[in-house]
Amino acid sequence: MSTATSTTGNAHAHQADLFQGEMFDNTIKILETAGNAVGCDPNVLERMKRPKKAVIISVPVRMDDYRVKVFTGYRVQHSSTLGPYKGGIRYHQDVTLSEVAALATLMTFKCSLLNLPLGGGKGGIAVDPSKLSRTEKQNMTRRYTSELGTLIGPDVDIPAPDMGTDAQTMAWIMDTYSQELGFAQPGVVTGKPVEIGGSLGRAGATGLGVVFIAEKALEKLGMKMAGSTFVIQGFGNVGTHAAINAFNRGAKILAVSDVSGGLHNPNGLDIPDLLRYVAENKVIKGYTKAEPISNEELLQLNCDVLAPCAMENQITEANAAKISCKVVVEGANGPTNNAATKILHERDIMICPDILANGGGVIVSYFEWVQGIAHFFWSEEEVNNRMKGIITNAFDKVWELRTEKKLDMRTAAMGQSVRRLERAMLLRGLYPR
Ligand code: GLU
Repeated sequence: MSTATSTTGNAHAHQADLFQGEMFDNTIKILETAGNAVGCDPNVLERMKRPKKAVIISVPVRMDDYRVKVFTGYRVQHSSTLGPYKGGIRYHQDVTLSEVAALATLMTFKCSLLNLPLGGGKGGIAVDPSKLSRTEKQNMTRRYTSELGTLIGPDVDIPAPDMGTDAQTMAWIMDTYSQELGFAQPGVVTGKPVEIGGSLGRAGATGLGVVFIAEKALEKLGMKMAGSTFVIQGFGNVGTHAAINAFNRGAKILAVSDVSGGLHNPNGLDIPDLLRYVAENKVIKGYTKAEPISNEELLQLNCDVLAPCAMENQITEANAAKISCKVVVEGANGPTNNAATKILHERDIMICPDILANGGGVIVSYFEWVQGIAHFFWSEEEVNNRMKGIITNAFDKVWELRTEKKLDMRTAAMGQSVRRLERAMLLRGLYPR
């Protein structure tokens, strides 16, 4: 930012610039539009636009060749009005403060929309985890956790997996936190391995939730899951579970992609077979029972459901006019930017937005936290049924508001979420007044 701005004493502009970035700015615009659409109190809306706390952490790591590398990590805590901060930790080379702030903001509104007693947070380290050995990844995770110190905790802020992190990463965080405390505290993270207090169904929860939402959207379009066609971008935790759950319900998966490229089979991919291939080869590249396809071509395939389950900013003004699906179900956070959202809506393509469509993960994280507190664990069937109840109920609420106020789904989802948070913020008030 310019020195001129910082010396004007405009603290407001100063703060905004710290977080500025495409995804954060997009998120704040959605919030503003939705807040105005539901008549949100302007003072409350102003507070919602700013994350409450953000830390930048230098994470020194002893590499396998004995050299020390210093990585930059972040944790942004957006809102704790409704409960402890909640949200994943991302390891990716493109992680920035701005991106983490955008993701933390989305978590607040995701938890609010889903009626969970949780706030929103997010963490990340700017690193390509595929370039780290297991030991290096463990060292980095443990040092990051110890630097976070009391900023995380079962009543404070509860991390979970996100891109580049998994159940093993959560186990290291839980262990480091517990070592420093002197006793086991599984409640500090969710998405842990089941053996140390994780929940059944957590690993597949986000992908399963994507399918529950796709089913609701298809129903509104007068269609059924069985016989519908899917294209799935991303074949990591979210994409693989979305694919297998859609496949098991009779949908045809026309194409999938991962970092190594894309695969297309107009007759539908044999997902269990492909998953076996990936278990052995790590990536989908080289699988012979489908044709290779580029990422760009994959997004433009004619299908009923397009599920972007990879990264933000995949559907933009550059390709939105060529998207050829009936509904976009956002398994990733922020995969469609605001310009593309506008184009898709003009073309009558429905969007089931991220805070609704990928909420299955944090819903089951909430269940994991509850089961941990109660020391009483549920069956996978109970977990999945309860998750379905919450996510489909949220869909119905969003649909109601969309119809009542003639909004698009993204604005309606954010609007529904803003309403709950607004009431809570007004009830708690501003301290000191
Ligand atoms: N990282 C996931 C998300 O973006 C899950 C967060 C959680 O379970 O806390 O929703």
